[in-house]
Amino acid sequence: MIDLRSDTVTQPTAAMREAILRAPLGDDVFGDDPTVNALQERIAQITGKEAALFMPSGTQSNLCALMAHCERGDEYIVGQNAHTYRYEGGGAAVLGSIQPQPLAQNASGEMSLTDIAAAIKPIDCHFARTRLLALENTWNGHPMSQAYLAQATGLARQHGLAVHLDGARLFNAAVAQAEGGLVTASVRRIVDHFDSVSVCFSKGLGAPVGSALCGSHELITKALRWRKVLGGGLRQSGILAAAALHALEHHVDRLAQDHALAKRLAQGLQGVPGLSVRSAQTNIVFVDVADGRGPVLLEGLKAQGVLATGLIGLRFVTHLGVDAAGIDHAIACIRRLMANASAPTSPAPTRVGVY
Ligand SMILES: *Cc1c(COP(=O)(O)O)cnc(C)c1O
Repeated sequence: MIDLRSDTVTQPTAAMREAILRAPLGDDVFGDDPTVNALQERIAQITGKEAALFMPSGTQSNLCALMAHCERGDEYIVGQNAHTYRYEGGGAAVLGSIQPQPLAQNASGEMSLTDIAAAIKPIDCHFARTRLLALENTWNGHPMSQAYLAQATGLARQHGLAVHLDGARLFNAAVAQAEGGLVTASVRRIVDHFDSVSVCFSKGLGAPVGSALCGSHELITKALRWRKVLGGGLRQSGILAAAALHALEHHVDRLAQDHALAKRLAQGLQGVPGLSVRSAQTNIVFVDVADGRGPVLLEGLKAQGVLATGLIGLRFVTHLGVDAAGIDHAIACIRRLMANASAPTSPAPTRVGVY
């Protein structure tokens, strides 16, 4: 199988499994799991924040961040299609009593500064209190520009808002924008704009489970309480943190290979009639399929051992479990299927998942 559905499908490498086996463990509820502590210190250091907290998932990490920044009856400004608003079960509203203020986004994931400014409510008992602006980077595989990050977070700060980054794929953005291969400097250039950042270890970094929330000591202390409320403490969680630590050591720079494979796929599909390839800046390639032929193409690919997601805009994600031969096989299959495929007789279903 060449599984391009998401970078979450990776299996731990042999070296990662070794690191898991070797990890010293303790009870994290007592704060004495050395591997968890090492991971939290390492990711805080990389992101240049005072503290970090290991989380079971990106969803829980974002939710703890929102609940640590906002109180009941507060509001956060967020993109209409942002993961925290659209794909996390409405957790901020359901569990945090936080009102989302969703705004339209352009193709780069940017909300306009005018819209953001207009959405910030005056301090008045009629309104929820606008507390936070949340951005997402990478956006659909697209690294946000420094200029926009500076402008949007600067505007938020002028109005006294805090700023959170959903950086599930932060390291993909950082690697794509690294100057002279200096990834940590690139991470800092992105996250220095933000009070808090959530990063996933279980996506392109290849760990089986886990995310981290990074921010000030004060924020992380609040987030620790919310993590407890949202599902309890973790015990010998160093067994998971070991995989994340290993990923930070060994799987960050190699993201450039995933990006190169995404470009290889995009280039290999150029000029195929019925396909329109959107640029691949990191590890995600979107391919629009004409005439409702997306589902047929997906089914055909599956029969030949190539998995992807989507219906009209198909999504292909590269990761450490695929290589150039796999990508070339996928290109050949897609080209063959598009040469033979006919339009479907029934209309395409409309559900689209994001993973
Ligand atoms: C995957 C993802 C999340 C959530 O992470 P989970 O670990 O799946 O809960 C949050 N934000 C973005 C942008 C993501 O891609």
